[in-house]
This record gives sequence, C-alpha cells and structure tokens, in this order.
Amino acid sequence: MRNSSVPKKVELFVWRTRKGRILTLPELDKRGIDLNSVCCPICDDDIETLDHSLLSCKLAKDIWVKIFEWWNMGSVPRNGIRELLHGDTGQPISDLGKTIWQGFIRTSGYLIWKSRNEKVFKNKCWSAPAAVSEIQVKSFEWIAKRCKLKNIEWHN
Ligand SMILES: [Zn+2]
Repeated sequence: MRNSSVPKKVELFVWRTRKGRILTLPELDKRGIDLNSVCCPICDDDIETLDHSLLSCKLAKDIWVKIFEWWNMGSVPRNGIRELLHGDTGQPISDLGKTIWQGFIRTSGYLIWKSRNEKVFKNKCWSAPAAVSEIQVKSFEWIAKRCKLKNIEWHN
C-alpha cells in the first residue's frame, strides 16, 4: 500500500488516517483537553470527524470535485476518506498512471488537513481554488522528483 511517489510525511498522514490516529477536536476532547467547541473549525456545521473534515466539509468537497474533474475521474466516491485515499480508480489505467493518481490523491488529503490546521492554528482560511493550485504544484513537484519523470510536463 505504500506509494513511493510522495514524501514520507504524506505516507505517515495516510497511515494515521487509516488507523484513525488523526487528532480531530472530539479526539482531543476525549483526552481531557479543554475546548470551546468540537465542531468543524472550517464550517462549524457538524462535529469534526475525519470523514467530515477531509471529505464532506464544504471546502474539502469543493476541492475533491475540482480534482476529480481535472483528472476526468467521474464523481467523487462518498464512502469514506479511507477508501478515497486508497486511490482505486475503477478505471483502466496504466501502473504509472495509478501511481501518479494515488500520489495525487494522497497529497490532496494531506494538504486538505494542512488547510484545516492553518485555520485552527493561524486562523488562515484557504479558498478551494487556492488549495487546488497548491495541490497541483506540490503533487507535480513531489511526483516528478520521486518518480524521476524528467520529461513530465504540466499538460500531461
Ligand atoms: Zn466542516
């Protein structure tokens, strides 16, 4: 399940997500940390869970829709963030294509969580277009470097 196209910090994030070891606000609350609210820091509409923050929160949803459109991957699966990060495409795609897609999906999840943290710790709000361009730049940089795709171009 490892994907060598992304940095270790992204793999670690995916592993922690799979194990339910990301510290959402309700998890901190359970550990006795005094919080004003356990609602999503981005939208304040729902209790913060991994599936909410990384998948169904307005910001996350807008980001995933843009990414799936950009890759022409159809509609965003809604069965859960763990399944989504697994990166099964359900489409005929080359091994290299699959590695790149998986790397891209994982980088996206990592950066969506990072945008959540920036809201919590720096009160900085990301817009979906800003987040998507950050995801595009980082994924391109990481995947091109680690897959040694010297000739990869933006339009590919
Ligand atoms: Zn939310």
